[in-house]
Amino acid sequence: MVHKKKVHEKRKEYVCGHCGKKFVRKPNLLLHQKTVHEGRKDFACDKCEKKFSQKGNLLSHHRTIMHATSAGRNSEVNQICRGTK
Ligand SMILES: [Zn+2]
Ligand SMILES: [Zn+2]
Repeated sequence: MVHKKKVHEKRKEYVCGHCGKKFVRKPNLLLHQKTVHEGRKDFACDKCEKKFSQKGNLLSHHRTIMHATSAGRNSEVNQICRGTK
């Protein structure tokens, strides 16, 4: 008797068509494709020319020494946070 074992649990997987990387959640795949394969950088710093692919990178960029003194206590930072929610 041949008993087929379930190798994989039935689980949603989103595979990147470019590199074959797998993601459990679709938004993660889309973000991966956008940033890694399309080179999209949607989060631009308004204090300098820098652009970032992820919001977290931009936010941490704002906290760097470059902007900490000028933008750190500026109310504009709060506006940016609301604007790019
Ligand atoms: Zn990929
Ligand atoms: Zn900047």
